[in-house]
Amino acid sequence: MSDSIGQGEAVGHDVIVSGAGPVGLTAALVLGRAGKRVLVLESEAEPATQWRASTFHSPTLELAEGLGLIDDMLAEGLVAPTYQLRDRTGGLIADFDFSTLSDVTQYPYRLQLEQYKYVRMLLDKLADEETVEVRFSHRVTGHRVTGPASVDVRVSGPSGDLSVTGGHLVGADGARSTVRQDLGVEFEGITYEHRYLLLGIDAPLEEYFPGISYVNYVSDPTEHMMLLRIPDCWRVMFEVTDGPADDEVVTDEFIEGRLKALLDPHPMPQVLSRQVYRVHQRVAAEFRRGPVVLIGDAAHVNSPIGGLGLNSGVHDAWTLGRTLAGAHGAPDLDSWAEQRRQVALSEIQRITHRNTRDLSLDEGEARDARLDALREISRDPRRAREWMLEASMIASARRQNLVPERLIKTGGDSVTIT
Ligand SMILES: Cc1cc2nc3c(=O)[nH]c(=O)nc-3n(C[C@H](O)[C@H](O)[C@H](O)COP(=O)(O)OP(=O)(O)OC[C@H]3O[C@@H](n4cnc5c(N)ncnc54)[C@H](O)[C@@H]3O)c2cc1C
Repeated sequence: MSDSIGQGEAVGHDVIVSGAGPVGLTAALVLGRAGKRVLVLESEAEPATQWRASTFHSPTLELAEGLGLIDDMLAEGLVAPTYQLRDRTGGLIADFDFSTLSDVTQYPYRLQLEQYKYVRMLLDKLADEETVEVRFSHRVTGHRVTGPASVDVRVSGPSGDLSVTGGHLVGADGARSTVRQDLGVEFEGITYEHRYLLLGIDAPLEEYFPGISYVNYVSDPTEHMMLLRIPDCWRVMFEVTDGPADDEVVTDEFIEGRLKALLDPHPMPQVLSRQVYRVHQRVAAEFRRGPVVLIGDAAHVNSPIGGLGLNSGVHDAWTLGRTLAGAHGAPDLDSWAEQRRQVALSEIQRITHRNTRDLSLDEGEARDARLDALREISRDPRRAREWMLEASMIASARRQNLVPERLIKTGGDSVTIT
């Protein structure tokens, strides 16, 4: 890796990736393994270390096995064999058990692992790929399509502005994607009224709330929340509605008020990190235009309830990498784009919006009925299995043949996918 590109450099690359987040780097690794010449351009000077996503689902772990990442991920991650849905005042509603899927995957659990660690693992692997270059401090500022498989990309780097040429440009540059905006592609959808206050805290929540899982979604009409154990600490995500501006939400006073209501009579923990996070449900109107494609948050963003955002971005990256590498014959980018857009709309958006609504229903009969229904699902083995196939993303992955056959565990009952 080097930190600058010489002025006027005109090296041809098979693929230029804008953004060295988890999604762009996964695409680079898949393409590098196929011998493609890849240039990854990242605007920041170094990899992000913020806590963001922290859950890896079964199909993503299967893909990670294929990429040689799984041993490091298992060594650093925490296995969450179950996840719980709780009512803030009424206690446990449902305990969903991933082990019911042990006949269809080697990885019947959620792996709790911080996104920044996954990025670090990808960068380590990419350092061994001779055909992949990752350049930090290089911001993509625009592009011009020069042919069906040819694009000039404008870059601003430490030594000034320059242009690089590639066969394809992959916009993996996050929710505010420059590539998407440069294409003029609409980012259609909604922004929720609520925000989340995301805290890392130094408190033994497993002792304070005996029986809780590593992943807990807590329903409440006025302040739903998530309690997640990640390797670094416990992470708490509070719903914040109306009133306070973002800079007030991250003050000690505001945070202590929220934590006190949750933890009392236990002592106030040390707050290790604090962020306000505004949540959207949006999907790009197109995922592909000519030789330019969008993946990950550049293409779709969603509520974090369910942990599907990063995972679906990694699935975009893997399927795109395989398509561009010719794993299915001549690259059919239109089919790829259509399939991934449908997954974003009909699966990721649908499930995450439903999950968010389940947590935030107003007090009343409709809420009671929905929580009862979820309780019933968790107690009925057949319905619980269907629920878990969806929650783990296995149903979606198998429908799309996302994971190579050789990595899928076979045997046991056949999978019922509806
Ligand atoms: C505060 C926060 C908390 C989150 N929590 C959760 C969670 O709990 N669960 C969950 O599932 N998801 C969560 N998410 C979402 C999850 O982090 C994303 O789905 C994931 O980061 C998507 O990865 P990505 O690589 O597509 O985009 P990003 O991670 O955003 O990476 C994009 C990269 O592109 C770079 N870039 C941007 N513009 C340019 C440019 N013009 N040129 C070059 N590089 C550029 C950026 O610097 C960045 O490194 C959270 C997101 C945020 C912001």
